[in-house]
Formats: sequence, structure tokens, C-alpha cells
Amino acid sequence: MRLVFLGTSSATPTPRRFLPSLALIRLGDMFLFDCGEGAQIRFRRANLKFSRLRWILISHMHGDHITGLMGLLMSLQMAERVEPLTIVGPVGLREYVQANRRFLRTEFAYDTDFIELSRDFESVYDGPEYLIEAGRLDHRLPTYGFALIEKDKPGRFDVEAAKELGVPSGPLFGVLQNGESVTLADGTVVRPEQVLGEHRPGRRVAYITDTRPCPMAVRLAQNADLLVHESTFGLDLAEEAKLKKHSTTVEAAEVARLAGAKRLVLTHFSPRYVDLEMLRREAAEHFPCVDVATDLKEFELEPVP
Ligand SMILES: [Zn+2]
Ligand SMILES: [Zn+2]
Repeated sequence: MRLVFLGTSSATPTPRRFLPSLALIRLGDMFLFDCGEGAQIRFRRANLKFSRLRWILISHMHGDHITGLMGLLMSLQMAERVEPLTIVGPVGLREYVQANRRFLRTEFAYDTDFIELSRDFESVYDGPEYLIEAGRLDHRLPTYGFALIEKDKPGRFDVEAAKELGVPSGPLFGVLQNGESVTLADGTVVRPEQVLGEHRPGRRVAYITDTRPCPMAVRLAQNADLLVHESTFGLDLAEEAKLKKHSTTVEAAEVARLAGAKRLVLTHFSPRYVDLEMLRREAAEHFPCVDVATDLKEFELEPVP
């Protein structure tokens, strides 16, 4: 699993930082969290493939998180996309895209499936390999955080052990791999735990941006292998963070700590900050494993062994 930050500024772009957008690539699928202005330019710079994009998840309808969406959707049309695309976000997102399409007199040949969020917490998708959860955060307008949660994998099948126990290769292997016992011709029962290794837990990534610290942020980030959390302000502007309903470095670190996350990556920095290392240090006083995102910076999550 690979994360590529396409934009890491809040409110307005700077010469170094574009507006918020994060691509997550997992096997064949790509997820785009937020789509600030210029996201598609960064997308090309990062050599990402439009065709792999399957999900766009928009946290909220503040301009810095959505102004890149129409341009990206139009570029997908120009790239002759045919695969459907699922767009998730707050109520109003579908109307926003449709109104833009009307004004711009543009049609998309590919299907766009909208999932609009309105509840405090919901499971957006539950598929064979992963699920996506969304939860309402605490910002100036309806805002959602997301968690991408891989499903646990069964332990590895030990062919040698199975053969030693007398299981003939063939369909019985599959039955054991599915976690069921089998009875051999001589009446011996072989249980799955005799031939399967430890089950392998899936990974969890949480994307929490534009919020005060809140219980929902902690819930979504619970035991996350990687938590991406906004840190619009440092300690020097803690009052402003309260006023504008954002988080500080230390508050982001506190969410990571309460959630038991393994790793924290800060993003969505106010344009006022040039020295991000200072922000990283503030958070690192309260949480051991902190990085700061910069545009086009990549983070890799080890595959499940
Ligand atoms: Zn923002
Ligand atoms: Zn916002």
C-alpha cells in the first residue's frame, strides 16, 4: 500500500504546497482522498495512472478540498475512461457535480456512482478485501473522516504439513484453507489449525482532516497502521485552531495516541508555516512516530506477510 501526497496546504496554495489531496494505491485500486485545485497536475507529476482510480472520497465542501474535482473528472473523460467511478462525500456533492456539468455542458461517458454521507457513522463499502468507514468530524460544516480497513487474511497453508498428515492434494486442500476440518478415507479428522499458520491481520489507514480533536477521529483511527491527520496550526496558533475548528500539532498527536495508531503523518498546513520540521517536533513530543507530509512525498505500508 502506497500513499502519495498530492497537496498539503490548507486554504490557499503556496509555491511549494498545493491544496489537499492524497492518493492511496492498494493493489489495482486507487483511492483519492480530497481533490484540491491542481490535484490532477500533481497526479501526473507523480506518474499515477488515471485508469486505476476507483474511489474519490471528499471530506467536506470547503473549496480547498474540492476545487480540483471537476477538472479531474473532465480529464478522465478526455482519457476515454469507461470504468465506473465511485464518489463519496457529504450531501450536496452530487448536486455540485451535476450543476457544474450543466454549466460546462459536459457529459461523462463513464458511470459516476455517488454515495452521499449524512449519518454520524457509516460503512460506505464492505467488499471481499477491504471496507471503508466514514464518520462525522467536528468542523464548521459537515465533514467526514475515513478509514480504509483491509480484511484479515487466513494463515498460510502449509502443504508439507498437510501431506504429512495424509491429506491428498486436491479439493481437500481448499476445504482446509477455508477454515473447515476434513475427514480422510481412514476416518482421521484433520483440523485447519494443524495446517494453517497464524492469521494475518489487514492494515488500516485513517484520513482525518479539517476537525477539532473529537471521539470520532479517535474511533476511525483506532489501531491504525497509519493515521493521516490535519495539523493546520502549531502551538503558537492554538487559539486560532479552536476558532476555525482545526487541530494543532499536539492535538493531532493526542488523537494518534488515544487511538493507539502506529504512525502519524501530519498534513493540511497553514500557508503561514514554512518550517514544517518545527511542527513535526511539536507533535513528536507527544507521539513517537510522526512525519510531516510534503507535496509528492510517498509513504509505503508493508504488505501483509
Ligand atoms: Zn481545509
Ligand atoms: Zn475546511
